[in-house]
Amino acid sequence: MDLRFTDAQVAFRDEVRAWLASNLTRPFREEVRDPAHDADSLVEVRRQWQRKLQAAGYLAMGWPEEWGGRGVGEVENAILEAELARADAPQVPNFLGISLLGPALIHHGSEEQRRRFIPKMLSCEEIWCQGFSEPGSGSDLASLRTRAEPDGDHYRITGQKVWTTFGPWANWIFVLARTDMEDRYGGISFFLVPIEQDGVEVRPIKQISGESEFGEVFFDGALARREHIVGELGEGWRVAMTLLGYERGAAALRYPAEYDTFLDGMVQALRESGDAERPEVRARLGQLVVENEVLRANGLRTLANLAAGNAPGPESSIEKIGWSEYAQRLTDTALDLLGPQAQLVATDPHARPELDWAYQYMWARAGTIYSGSSEIQRNIIAKRVLRMPTKR
Ligand SMILES: Cc1cc2nc3c(=O)[nH]c(=O)nc-3n(C[C@H](O)[C@H](O)[C@H](O)COP(=O)(O)OP(=O)(O)OC[C@H]3O[C@@H](n4cnc5c(N)ncnc54)[C@H](O)[C@@H]3O)c2cc1C
Repeated sequence: MDLRFTDAQVAFRDEVRAWLASNLTRPFREEVRDPAHDADSLVEVRRQWQRKLQAAGYLAMGWPEEWGGRGVGEVENAILEAELARADAPQVPNFLGISLLGPALIHHGSEEQRRRFIPKMLSCEEIWCQGFSEPGSGSDLASLRTRAEPDGDHYRITGQKVWTTFGPWANWIFVLARTDMEDRYGGISFFLVPIEQDGVEVRPIKQISGESEFGEVFFDGALARREHIVGELGEGWRVAMTLLGYERGAAALRYPAEYDTFLDGMVQALRESGDAERPEVRARLGQLVVENEVLRANGLRTLANLAAGNAPGPESSIEKIGWSEYAQRLTDTALDLLGPQAQLVATDPHARPELDWAYQYMWARAGTIYSGSSEIQRNIIAKRVLRMPTKR
């Protein structure tokens, strides 16, 4: 297994780095601290950033050229992600559309659906959110109860989704709904539903971090056009599984790159206070640095495997546990070592300047839940890697 980048990949990394140096005007953490911004104007900053990435050819790079991508492999995608994290670039508002729905449309959608939805997704004229989870159906997604009933040229959707990221800003939602209440997997269909209509209500959820990036979405006979079912009726589970498995390598280098910036900030602050010289502090920092290198090595192993043409294996579960649980240890340590100043919200004049530690600490709590909780990832490793017996 070769874990080194090729010359062309190193050249690509340098090209992205140079482009970011001249195109990213401010790290996103500075935008967030700017008192002139509110939640809506920060979304606008992110929208403009998405457009810049698109114009430069750095958006959806893995997609076929016909649909606005460059058809590049997982390694180039991972390099781009790592460079974006390193520079603290804003996350694009349509990340759910681009990482999940776009690939589903490319693989399972009709030509009309691709033409209708992909250009506006890339240009961020339309923001998408993901309507999968429901109260009572998260880890066990196939138990979902939202239903869709035929009504002329439409289906009428009734039910509730929850934890809908970007729901408060989205124009469209991709929804898993039951078209058959009895068939657990074959009774699920995949709908594209406009949010701005009677019968859809989005209620923002206030988070521990103070933001409301999530919403609950209530459907009360909301209309979805028949031609906006992705795949065939009853194929929703298959479509959902394709999209959840897409771009497995994208995160492989992003998190270690992001954590490098956290570690740099922490070390710099501890040097300034003189605490970096204390042996017990050095030991804790050293442990975190080593663990981040292990994450990076594991990411490179995933990428080498994908680059060799192998199907994504259970490495992604190991990686998911690795980066999400590490973020909690990292931010726990930061709050412990940096003291009360690190617990202040970023806009407080006395808050630590290098990073919004309190926000990162709280946000890290979510990492072990979304995209499959740590327990679910451990179940996957137990079954597929260790081949442990399962209870019947
Ligand atoms: C930041 C964030 C963003 C999200 N964004 C979206 C979004 O945009 N769209 C969307 O549809 N959803 C979204 N979600 C929802 C997310 O997918 C679910 O929270 C996740 O699947 C867990 O489901 P749940 O919350 O219902 O918890 P549950 O499934 O009820 O789990 C509760 C606890 O039980 C454990 N558990 C459950 N089943 C098992 C088992 N078989 N074995 C062992 N332990 C088990 C879990 O690990 C967890 O600790 C988001 C969640 C978060 C935190």
